[in-house]
Amino acid sequence: MRIGIGYDIHRLVKGRRLILGGIEIPHKKGLLGHSDADAVIHAVIDAVLGAAALGDIGGLFPDTDPKYKGIASSKLLLRVNKFVRSKGYHIGNIDIIVLAQEPKLTMFKKRMAANIARLLGIAPAQVNVKAKTNEGLGVIGKKEAIAAYAVALLEEKSLAR
Ligand code: MG
Repeated sequence: MRIGIGYDIHRLVKGRRLILGGIEIPHKKGLLGHSDADAVIHAVIDAVLGAAALGDIGGLFPDTDPKYKGIASSKLLLRVNKFVRSKGYHIGNIDIIVLAQEPKLTMFKKRMAANIARLLGIAPAQVNVKAKTNEGLGVIGKKEAIAAYAVALLEEKSLAR
């Protein structure tokens, strides 16, 4: 078994859609970035890559590459899943924390988890999403950004049933 950690933060701005965990969430602002800026999926990608010691999201999908401009991060996760599986790993479980002062994410946690599980081809019970505010503190508390942490456990296929 191998464990990996991922973290990401993106700035909240007007005029962008808010995409978290591959789900569009109704809000007056969205996250700014080269891709769709889905901080949750970016953290998951880095956790999975980290567990497999396969680098990071910036190495695989450079934000200087016009190919990835506006790309749905769901697509990047599908590619990472294929890559990691091709190296002989499968995913045990993923746990995620989303830090957002607003909007309230309580009613989207299950959908985000189910969507990430679907993208990875694993059972919904293998993915957990937790959401917290930042108690009004710092850039997240001031509603200027949304951040996410993820940990992933991978298992080597040869050892698994
Ligand atoms: Mg990012």
